[in-house]
Amino acid sequence: MRSRTMRMSWLGGALLSAACAAVAAAPALGFFQEAPAPAQAPAAGADHAVSTLLEALPDRIAKRLEERRAEMNQPAGGPMGAAGFVARIAKRWNPGETVKVAFRGGSDALHREIAETASEWTEYANLKFDFGLDPATGKYRTWSPSDSQYAAEIRISFNQRGYFSLVGNDSIDSTITAPGEESMNFERFDVHKPSDWKGITLHEFGHAIGFEHEHQGTPPCDFRFEDDPGYVRTAGPGGQFVPDSAGRRPGLYTQLGGPPNNWSRQKVDFNLKQLPPSSSIVAGAFDKNSIMKYYFEPFMFAAGKDSPCYTDFANVALSDQDKKGAAEVYPRGKEDIADILAAKKLVLRELAENRQVSKKIRDHFGGRLKDLDALRKRVLDDD
Ligand SMILES: [Zn+2]
Repeated sequence: MRSRTMRMSWLGGALLSAACAAVAAAPALGFFQEAPAPAQAPAAGADHAVSTLLEALPDRIAKRLEERRAEMNQPAGGPMGAAGFVARIAKRWNPGETVKVAFRGGSDALHREIAETASEWTEYANLKFDFGLDPATGKYRTWSPSDSQYAAEIRISFNQRGYFSLVGNDSIDSTITAPGEESMNFERFDVHKPSDWKGITLHEFGHAIGFEHEHQGTPPCDFRFEDDPGYVRTAGPGGQFVPDSAGRRPGLYTQLGGPPNNWSRQKVDFNLKQLPPSSSIVAGAFDKNSIMKYYFEPFMFAAGKDSPCYTDFANVALSDQDKKGAAEVYPRGKEDIADILAAKKLVLRELAENRQVSKKIRDHFGGRLKDLDALRKRVLDDD
C-alpha cells in the first residue's frame, strides 16, 4: 500500500528552495531503488529475451529499505515530492568528505583495478575514496563478516548474486546494513571480469556516491508493464516467458515474474517505476549516455527501439552530464560547498528530530549531522 501522506513538516518552504539549489544537477534521480542489470549486450536478433538476471539488491536488504521507507512514511512510487527529495539529499556524502572502501575476497591486482576505475568519479566530484592501500605491502583495506564496526563506508564483496550497491550513506545506516555485510557486490569479478567491468564498476560507485538510475527519473520511460492483449503464457527453453504462437508478448510483470528473475509485481514496480517527480528537481533531458542508465532490451518499451529510453549500446563511461552532475553535487568552491552544507543541515536536522520514526533511524541522521558540522568547521571556518 502506498501512503501519499507527506510529512511536509519536514520541509519548510525556505528549506525546499535552499535545498533545490543543492541538488538541481543530480545526473540521475532516484530513491532507495536498485535495479536492472549491468548492461549485457543483447545477442544478435534477440529482440525478446531476458535471459540475464537484472540487477537488484539482496531481498534481506530490500526488505529493510522497505521497512524504513514505510516507517518514514515515504511513498514507494507515484507522486511524492518532498519526502523522497529529502531522503535523496540526506543520503549524499558531504563535499570534500573522504569515503573509505574495503574489500572482501579478490586479489590485490583486482582491488587496484577497481580502485583506479572508481576514482574517475573523484576527478569531477569533490570526494576522496580511501582504499586503504598500504604502500609497503600493496594490500588494500579489507572487511569481514565478523566486524562489529564498519571497516569502511563502502564494503565490496564478490560472492553475492549479481551487481549492486547501496545508495550513498545507506551503507552505514544500521537499520539497513550491518558492519559485517557488503554494501556493494561484483559477482565473480574475482574469478572472471566481464568485458564491461569498468562500466559496471563506475555504475555501482555512482550509486555509492548517491546517484540513482537514470531510467527512474523524469520523464518516465515507456516500460511495457502489461502483457499484449490476449497473451498466452509460453515458456522458452530456460523457462523464461517468451512471445506466444501468435507473436503476442509478455509484459514486464509476467516476464520478470518468471525465471530467472522471479520478481514479484511489487519488486518490478520498485525497480522500474518512475521516481516521483518533485518540483525540486530540475528535470533535465533524459541522459541516454549516463553511466547510471542501464541497457534495456527494446521489447521492454512500448515504443521499442523508438523509445526515448532505448539505446543500442551499453554505457561504459561517464557521460558529460555525469561529470557535470558530480561536480555540482560535490563542488569544490567554498561558497558552493557552504550552500550545500547549509541546505543539507536543515534536512538532516529535520530527520534527526523526527519523533515519528525509531531512535535508530534518528540516530543515523543525527550522526550524519555531527559529521556535517565537523566538516563545516574544518572546510569553512578554518582559514
Ligand atoms: Zn544500478
